[in-house]
Amino acid sequence: MTYHRIMLKLSGEMFGGSRGIGVDPDVVASLAAQIKSVVNAGVQVAVVIGGGNFFRGAELSERGMDRDRADYMGMLGTVMNCLALQDFTEKAGVQTRVQTAIEMGQVAEPYIPRRAERHLEKGRVVIFGAGSGMPYFSTDTVAAQRALEIGADVLLMGKQGTDGVYDSDPKKNPNAQRFDELTYDDYLARDLKVADATAISLARDNKLPMIFFDLGVEGNILRVVQGEKIGTTVHA
Ligand code: UDP
Repeated sequence: MTYHRIMLKLSGEMFGGSRGIGVDPDVVASLAAQIKSVVNAGVQVAVVIGGGNFFRGAELSERGMDRDRADYMGMLGTVMNCLALQDFTEKAGVQTRVQTAIEMGQVAEPYIPRRAERHLEKGRVVIFGAGSGMPYFSTDTVAAQRALEIGADVLLMGKQGTDGVYDSDPKKNPNAQRFDELTYDDYLARDLKVADATAISLARDNKLPMIFFDLGVEGNILRVVQGEKIGTTVHA
């Protein structure tokens, strides 16, 4: 295996399935199966999940909500995704722990990085919820921060139906070109939006490689972890 400990960022949108909202159990079950195959290969897996299938603070605030409160709703939404992934991953026979940045003792442990590392060493999948616990951040940025704090080798940015980073939106521009590799500085200079600039600059400053790839293709997480060149790698 190319990587020993990975951080996997899953977008909330994916959890919503074809409707893009709520939780589609079939999608979560297939993600759990992919994660299991990676754990079985001896890789330690941590996960950060977004919440776009429930609420995005920025969108709610555009429609009149207070941004801070809307962002807290967004963070709470991510926890539902965490519990769904926990359920299907455990049903697949893999032990998990959910840790949240906003304390909610009945459903999850609080975020304790050293404990998270201990879980990983024991082969448990650690799922981080509630973002950073702070408004004005994205779960992409949280994934980079958590990856650094727990010492992950790589940040895998799993996307639904998009196989990497393009020079323009491939859904709008049929001539969009995909990058195989990109430096952090190039990414930022081109003002690309696949992950937010805060996440990219945090990764750049700490030399954390990021790989953007299509999660919709069964087996892709394992392919990336085995070092197969798929998607787009963003590095120094
Ligand atoms: N959020 C936040 N602070 C964080 C992480 C997330 O306020 O540290 C809120 C924010 O409103 C965001 C929402 O949670 O829009 C859902 O996260 P995100 O948009 O990153 O999810 P994704 O697009 O990956 O599904």
